[in-house]
Amino acid sequence: MKSHFDTKAIHTGYPRQDPYGSLQFPAYETSAFEFATAEAMVDAFAGTVEFTYSRISNPTVDYFEKRVAEITGAFGVTAFNSGMAAISNLFMNIACTGANIVTSPHLFGNSYSLFASTLKRFGVEVRFCDLTDLNGVANTIDGNTCALFLEIITNPQLEIADLKALSTVVRQKNVPLVADTTVVPFCAWKAKDFGVDIELVSSTKYISGGATTLGGILVDHGTFDWTDKPAMKDFAIFGQGTFTAKLRKEIHRNMGAYMTPHAAQAQLLGLETLSLRFAKVAASCLHIADRLQQVSQVQIVNYPGLASNPFYDLAGKQFGALPGAMLTFDLPSKEACFIFLNRLKLIKRATNLFDNKSLIIHPASTIFGTFSQEVRDRMNISDHTIRLSVGLEDSADLLEDIRQALG
Ligand SMILES: *Cc1c(COP(=O)(O)O)cnc(C)c1O
Repeated sequence: MKSHFDTKAIHTGYPRQDPYGSLQFPAYETSAFEFATAEAMVDAFAGTVEFTYSRISNPTVDYFEKRVAEITGAFGVTAFNSGMAAISNLFMNIACTGANIVTSPHLFGNSYSLFASTLKRFGVEVRFCDLTDLNGVANTIDGNTCALFLEIITNPQLEIADLKALSTVVRQKNVPLVADTTVVPFCAWKAKDFGVDIELVSSTKYISGGATTLGGILVDHGTFDWTDKPAMKDFAIFGQGTFTAKLRKEIHRNMGAYMTPHAAQAQLLGLETLSLRFAKVAASCLHIADRLQQVSQVQIVNYPGLASNPFYDLAGKQFGALPGAMLTFDLPSKEACFIFLNRLKLIKRATNLFDNKSLIIHPASTIFGTFSQEVRDRMNISDHTIRLSVGLEDSADLLEDIRQALG
């Protein structure tokens, strides 16, 4: 009776009976947990008791992780206080000095900066390559590669990596495939079926249920054998559980980036309506993309769900007919973009993605504004591009706002 996503997302069993029969899982807003005896404290510190201190684990966050594990079928799930915390803790877990990360230069701005600046100072090398060139990827990987990292649909270029083809390449090289799957939520497709070993999600986006809270999730599918990786040496005894064991027993405790109980409760509620909201915003996004193609001032409309898009077939194979709720379009100049943005009345000028409200931004001057022109060119960020994240409003009203702002 609990085999489908929507049912599991609402009816995940509680680990313990609630004393008041609360239907909503309570937010345990507490830092520490009491022990009846000195002996019980010894057990707690030896790791045999679930909850000691909320930097390490907390009942509400634990329940959120359990629900994500149940609906994704994952081996292990760990929640963080932002998507960036999830990415940085992920690489604290699997990288070490001398390791390299193979990835595309077409990355979310902060992920790019984490690799190219922060991790670089700790002796971790980032190797940028074109992920559509499978031979190039294979030749870039070597014995020190700790991961092939990619975004399933790059933001804002909206390029799609062929996950099955890339997973075949990395399997042969004994390297894990790590994917940022934020743009298409796990209710709509199964990353594990395409060879993804570790999934990383910014739950600030669709899952938070309307930009309520920040959050990040690492989903370990338990599919990669980490036991001979140098960074994982001390945890190899955990076998299939090596990644999650090191993450929970060492990295996540030492970095202190665990999700808060308040965020976990908000995001539990978000999970309950995730597939409903995604179906509506993604269908609206396709409709708006289609209509924008007929607007004369709009030069290029980029959405991989459009039949004219070069990634249409691949998007369909991996994500179905609705590859996310984000599209971009080009206007004739940067000035035209700014005039358009300033005339909007309904769509909000804001940097987030996948809120219940539609959000719009000029990426080149904001998210990528501190990057040099050369880097922006390499990342394929154009001055003429506008990014729209489609919300739950009626798509006719959104189109009306876009039309009036184009003048
Ligand atoms: C927003 C975002 C992130 C970062 O997540 P935060 O929760 O803002 O830290 C990472 N990757 C992608 C694709 C994103 O859209």
